[in-house]
Amino acid sequence: MRVERVGVVGAGTMGAGIAQLACIGGLETWLHDPVPEALGAGQRRVADGLAKGAVRGMWSEAEAEAAEERLNLVEQVERLGECQLVIEAAPEDLGLKRELFAELAGLCGPEAILATNTSSLSVTAIAAGVERPERVCGMHFFNPPPLMRLVEIVAGDDTSPQTLEAATEVARAMRREPIRAADAIGFVANRLARPFTLEALRLLGEGVAPIDQIDRIVRMGGGFRMGPFELMDLVGVDVNFEVAKSFWEQSFHEPRWQPHPIQARTVAAGRHGRKSGRGYYEYEGGAHRPEDPEPPERDSGWQRDADLEASIHHMALPSFEEAAVVEIARDPSMSDGDAEAAERYFRAGGKHVEWVGEAPGLVLGRILAQIVNEAHFALAQGVATQDDCNTAMRLGFNWPHGPFEWGEAIGLDRAVAILDELHDELGEERYRVAPLLRARAASDA
Ligand code: NAD
Repeated sequence: MRVERVGVVGAGTMGAGIAQLACIGGLETWLHDPVPEALGAGQRRVADGLAKGAVRGMWSEAEAEAAEERLNLVEQVERLGECQLVIEAAPEDLGLKRELFAELAGLCGPEAILATNTSSLSVTAIAAGVERPERVCGMHFFNPPPLMRLVEIVAGDDTSPQTLEAATEVARAMRREPIRAADAIGFVANRLARPFTLEALRLLGEGVAPIDQIDRIVRMGGGFRMGPFELMDLVGVDVNFEVAKSFWEQSFHEPRWQPHPIQARTVAAGRHGRKSGRGYYEYEGGAHRPEDPEPPERDSGWQRDADLEASIHHMALPSFEEAAVVEIARDPSMSDGDAEAAERYFRAGGKHVEWVGEAPGLVLGRILAQIVNEAHFALAQGVATQDDCNTAMRLGFNWPHGPFEWGEAIGLDRAVAILDELHDELGEERYRVAPLLRARAASDA
């Protein structure tokens, strides 16, 4: 079915952004919110977004004006009856969403597609009670929708291929990049991102490295735009904690997804991140962190010394040649002179040096190994294809590489070795290796 008229339910943060995308994508858009002030605010956000896009050259002023004319505001949900697709972006409450879907199913034609933007609820659960549940799917946009290109098209148990195809086409008309996702906990991107913050919290909790150092290593060594603690501060430490708890509870306590007591303590102290002026960093009175240093120039004539490297526990990722950062663990038996010589050696090789506590994989290796592991669990469970997992993380979280690309870059055998060592040393289930990862690493060898 060709979709020309789209309804958006809920004119808040996500609904207004989705409505903007629909309007600029050439679709007649009907934005509904039962709260008149919310509807007015949503309209202003759509208009501002369209005007800003014109200033930035994303489209012309004439296109922005034409798009705004496609926006219709409705306080009564009944007026969505003519829409061929309705995207629901109402509050994250299963009871409320179920009621809405049952109502929409009665209002709209039998062929109309009903999509939910839920982040954490099951699409199948929302569709329960809807007549013809094959027309219900998830269309999971990321915040803010006009800037984030990823949309996860989520199949519930009963969703038909035609419904998925139509939702995918609409996402493309909105100039987004759709991927397919199963109706599994957290869908794709939010799930594959779990280890980024959770392993960082564990490294902090175990005293391997402090906050600013973990973030710096992840930025400089991994090329991530933000370290995990900065990211939690931006998203909201409280919001991140709620997401962590939701994964943990929905999975009946999957050890990889166990939240960390540091999160609970930080939230209880009211340190909710940027929005409250303090989270893991302070945001009042200037920049929350210094600029990252440039790695030193490599000395001409510097040569690698295999014996020296073998005598020091260090990590240079993705490979020694490509690495900007070398992490070194200070062995208690290492003299000050040896430590200085090690640092001089790596700096002469053009590497920025970070001294961290002893731990398998050190900082970046441990985070990346667990990222690779999570992606292999998800792939084996049929959550998404390998390509879609990579796309999800590049577009949904602005990662420099997707998790399978990271696996290739650092080597699956190295990821397995780090995880096995963590499993042995800490005796924790959360480091069990995904069977698919172990099998692939073995067949690569
Ligand atoms: P929000 O609180 O900003 O907006 C919700 C809007 O829904 C409000 O304007 C409210 O007036 C309206 N509303 C309340 N009851 C309603 C009803 N019965 N019918 C229609 N509208 C109603 O919330 P949000 O952040 O835009 O989130 C909306 C949905 O999108 C949630 O399911 C959320 O999980 C999901 N989501 C949010 C984000 C995010 O980062 N904010 C990202 C992805 C998905």
